[in-house]
Amino acid sequence: MKPFLFVTDLDHTLVGDDQALIELNQHLSEHRQEYGTKIVYATGRSPVLYQELQVEKNLIQPDALVLSVGTEIYFDGTDVPDADWSEILSPGWSRDSVLSITSKYSELILQPDSEQRSFKVSFFLQQAAAEDILPQLEAELLKYKLNIKLIYSSGIDLDIVPLSSDKGQAMQFLRQKWKFAAQQTVVCGDSGNDIALFAVGNERGIIVGNARKELLEWHDEYPADHRYLAKDFCAGGIIEGLKYFGFLE
Ligand SMILES: [Mg+2]
Repeated sequence: MKPFLFVTDLDHTLVGDDQALIELNQHLSEHRQEYGTKIVYATGRSPVLYQELQVEKNLIQPDALVLSVGTEIYFDGTDVPDADWSEILSPGWSRDSVLSITSKYSELILQPDSEQRSFKVSFFLQQAAAEDILPQLEAELLKYKLNIKLIYSSGIDLDIVPLSSDKGQAMQFLRQKWKFAAQQTVVCGDSGNDIALFAVGNERGIIVGNARKELLEWHDEYPADHRYLAKDFCAGGIIEGLKYFGFLE
């Protein structure tokens, strides 16, 4: 058995079936100890919301954490975001400009402080208003030569982040840092914001059996041999996929 880089989304992917999670944790811990496999969680959660889930589900300590939609990477349980990754995100990013431009839109309601991050400004925006507001807002932000993108999800959350930030690019940053080949890297997800993980390169992909429609539709449109659609849900689907690719016996 060789070491591999294991990268997974949390909500409804790693987490969602407590029994299967216990089994997967055991496999991953042993593999890390024996072969040097690396474990990475990649989630839209902020540090505060990650901590809540970590405690509630007793998640094992990852080797790296990708938080806040890929805008922050933490190594070995530290609470200071990696400076090299921050440097990659910095060109063309200005929190102050984003805040001053967005303040003109009364439909944008700032999310709680815990969700406002160095490289992420987050709002609530009602679906009914989004269709009008988003194109205007994007045009306005680009006029100021900001290097940003808007991510609107679940019909309510609007995140404004650097253009070079997403789960897939953060994963590749880690893969290159630790020198794992794409064939020795596996990414797991269940929803639209995980497409970035699956689409960025030729890493092995596991789509869990409970995946959401938007991810399944994308997979149908862009099928690939290096991607596996599991039958089992959540951690059970991950175990199934790891066996399929030969990462686990
Ligand atoms: Mg998810």
